[in-house]
Amino acid sequence: MFDSLKSKLKNILNKSSQLDAEKVYEGSQETDAAEEKTIVDPSVEEPVKKEIPVAAKTETVPAPEEEEKPVSRKEWLKRNKQQKPAAKNKEVAEAGKMVGDSGKRIKEDPLDDLLDELEVILLESDVAYPVVQDIILGVRDNLVNKKYGRQYTLEEVVRTAVMESVRSVLKVNEFNFDEWVDKQERPVVMMFVGINGTGKTTTIAKIAKRLKDNEKSVVIAACDTFRAGAIEQLSIHAERVGVKIVKQEQDADPSAVAFDAIEHARSKKKDAVLLDTAGRMQTNSNLIDEMKKIARVSKPALKIFVGDALAGNDAIEQAKVFDAAIGIDAIILTKIDTDAKGGAALSIAHTIGKPIAFVSDGQEYDDLQVFDSNWMLERLFE
Ligand code: GDP
Repeated sequence: MFDSLKSKLKNILNKSSQLDAEKVYEGSQETDAAEEKTIVDPSVEEPVKKEIPVAAKTETVPAPEEEEKPVSRKEWLKRNKQQKPAAKNKEVAEAGKMVGDSGKRIKEDPLDDLLDELEVILLESDVAYPVVQDIILGVRDNLVNKKYGRQYTLEEVVRTAVMESVRSVLKVNEFNFDEWVDKQERPVVMMFVGINGTGKTTTIAKIAKRLKDNEKSVVIAACDTFRAGAIEQLSIHAERVGVKIVKQEQDADPSAVAFDAIEHARSKKKDAVLLDTAGRMQTNSNLIDEMKKIARVSKPALKIFVGDALAGNDAIEQAKVFDAAIGIDAIILTKIDTDAKGGAALSIAHTIGKPIAFVSDGQEYDDLQVFDSNWMLERLFE
């Protein structure tokens, strides 16, 4: 998952450590002088190479003041870096925690080169252009003219700055589906829209199963009456998941099917109605009129756009069309398990201004993951 983007990000972060060796750091002179004074013994001309006792290797290196022989600040920092406990990276969860009054400052020119490269990587990965711009600006803001604690490597600093910028792009919208469902009046009607082949039918079955697992009773409505195959396929899913399906013959009015299903749910006191809808591309304007009519008749509490992550920017364009027509509330991205680029997952919520509720990561009914910024960051930067 996201393999291509992940390895490209890894490469660029590795490069940021090379910049370290090329002296990208620009320490505050005042602070340097102060630190040199406290650490370096003027009687010692050359930095003393001090053996670190074996026991100390598993613990933090003592501060230079506590050592028998003084060492240069550079040497002390080098040792501290080597002995840094693994937990440190976790502590440094936010760029803000690394910033202080003194420390190293990253020069703008080499950073610009790095950011240019990051921009290309994101665009190649199908991240939408405005989102790329926001990420780049965020990284710049996190790095330029900020002083970072000397104990952090440049790679850590840049990595955290990139992660935090990506997090802020992802955090625009988050949506807790299960909690939301619990708060709705019964039956809660959800309408699923999206282009054929994206995995909409399978996703509806997954949502039905999730609701059922959460002890909700579910009715599925086969409102894609354009294809007999769609009704049949949905019937198979409903049977496998063990939920009721309301359907009519091919070419029946989709709104009538939705209406029937909702009536059935009301009379049987069911918790949720999931409306499958058509997604034929070739008759797009008819399709949109049909969606509008179903939405008017069924008044869904939630309109979910189902998009194929592999479609990248196309998925975003499709979401825009459905959003303009009926106003979507949330997004489910499918086939994320086979998506190497991650562009749609990174940019669709930010571009449309609607949250990704779930991502679908396989063909089994349980292959549905709650999406949030941590989920994505863990997969991109693990
Ligand atoms: P629909 O035409 O939009 O209703 O699409 P379907 O639900 O029929 O799915 C189309 C194909 O995509 C089927 O073969 C599904 O098994 C497959 N599919 C759906 N979701 C996923 C997913 O998350 N990952 C993978 N790998 N395949 C999926």
